[in-house]
Amino acid sequence: MYKYLKYRNRINHLSKQKQWKLLCEYYRGENVQSLIQKYQIDISPSNFYLTLHLVETSTKICPYCKINMHCIPSTKTSYPYLVKKYICKTCKHTINCGECKCHNCFDKKQKIAFTKRLQQNSHQESSNKRDDGLININELSFKEKIYLGTLLRAYPITKQCLFTISRNTKPFAPSHLYSQKILSFLINRGIIFQTAASLIGVQFAINIQNIYKNNQIIYDLMYPKKSLITIQIF
Ligand SMILES: [Zn+2]
Ligand SMILES: [Zn+2]
Repeated sequence: MYKYLKYRNRINHLSKQKQWKLLCEYYRGENVQSLIQKYQIDISPSNFYLTLHLVETSTKICPYCKINMHCIPSTKTSYPYLVKKYICKTCKHTINCGECKCHNCFDKKQKIAFTKRLQQNSHQESSNKRDDGLININELSFKEKIYLGTLLRAYPITKQCLFTISRNTKPFAPSHLYSQKILSFLINRGIIFQTAASLIGVQFAINIQNIYKNNQIIYDLMYPKKSLITIQIF
């Protein structure tokens, strides 16, 4: 996309009026070499059209910045048959310039890929369910339940029972070491498993049967019944 902006400053020494005049003369069919000389532009004839000034248009709005985009002048041989190309001067988003590589489109693609991966994971889990790969909540020991409940209280979970632990998060147990111990314990027992990792944090899913459908399971883990604790202590 930067090729569309790279040479635009080569006509900065011209007034806006002259820039318009240059554009008109070019499309009227003036010889490129003589235009380069006349307006003293430092550019090769083949790249000349890339110096022409971008024309702001209110007909195309950048979907990300919500501002007017600019029409990119094409070569006079392709004009006016070519589909018009547009660029957003702020985020460099482009339209009709092939695959857009602006950071907004990149983020969007990444999010789509991430969601797809999550869906694949959850599909994988439903097949596991048939193989009885998921753990029944009643099979968990007291310690496993308490550890899982501690995690659930510390991190908000999504509808699909996923939760993310940020990289710079405070420990959810009395110390970082203890937090790490709890995490490793639950991972080793197959109670939670990692679904994704990014610079922001690590995402986990909970490997418990029916936890997606049954909020009561989550509630009981987060707020264990007094009787459960009493039985275990005494
Ligand atoms: Zn934009
Ligand atoms: Zn884009």
